[in-house]
Amino acid sequence: MPLLGAHLPTKGEIASALDAAQRIGCDVVQLFVKPPIQWAASPLSDATIATFVTARERTGVKLVVAHAGYLVNLASPRPDVLLQSRKSLLEEMQRCHLLGIPFLVVHAGAHLGIGERRGVQRMRESLHWLFDRLPSLPFPVTLLIENTAGQGTCLGYTLEQMAEIVEGLPKERVGVCLDTCHLFVAGYEIRTPESVHELAKLIDATIGWDRFKLLHANDSLHPLGSRIDRHWHIGKGQIGLDGFRALLSHPKFAQLPIVIETPGTEVQHLENLQRLRELLEAA
Ligand SMILES: [Zn+2]
Ligand SMILES: [Zn+2]
Repeated sequence: MPLLGAHLPTKGEIASALDAAQRIGCDVVQLFVKPPIQWAASPLSDATIATFVTARERTGVKLVVAHAGYLVNLASPRPDVLLQSRKSLLEEMQRCHLLGIPFLVVHAGAHLGIGERRGVQRMRESLHWLFDRLPSLPFPVTLLIENTAGQGTCLGYTLEQMAEIVEGLPKERVGVCLDTCHLFVAGYEIRTPESVHELAKLIDATIGWDRFKLLHANDSLHPLGSRIDRHWHIGKGQIGLDGFRALLSHPKFAQLPIVIETPGTEVQHLENLQRLRELLEAA
């Protein structure tokens, strides 16, 4: 059984996400290490770090991953936003390090009109900028670049482009997180065993399975290829239960840690996780 869990809110205290994870039976939890829609954050106090470490032991959560703030755009053509994005992500990586969080997920950036080729180049320059400022390997935090739905000028909506972004970079530094909703609305059919088999081959030929570290399992409110990113409850959207059954019957997908990012309450998270668990058990 893979590690299964959810993105959970950090109300006031980062450790509160761990208690929520325990309530709904998560092995893995994804959380924000700073407020996601502002640049500034007060430094992590020793007390906050200690509370987090203690809560982690108490709750028995096996894996914690962080999701970067939404303002970060590593491909921005605006020098001020680009620098702010880089600094903000560097700070988030340092916070992950202090909290003992091994993965930080960040979206492939948006080129905002300068074109995909230059956007990818800028994205790669940003990754090098970060690595130049981090202690040399082994630095214990790996960035996971997440594929996008291809809304607007977002990069990383094809696996080929994801591969271009990460190509040649050390695997200890940069991995990939794939989101099922984003894949689907970007045009990847995943609702049949045959299409999942094709997708698995494409992953092998592009980003490589060894870089693929985390699966975001979200159903989609909008149809295949629509490029509209709206996460929905597992089995209740356009991917549907048959789609998730096809995906999770594939041995390689079924091995990855899985995080849901569906809307709603803890009760709804519990139901979504239960649906995935049943599919995994039946596979
Ligand atoms: Zn994301
Ligand atoms: Zn996601």
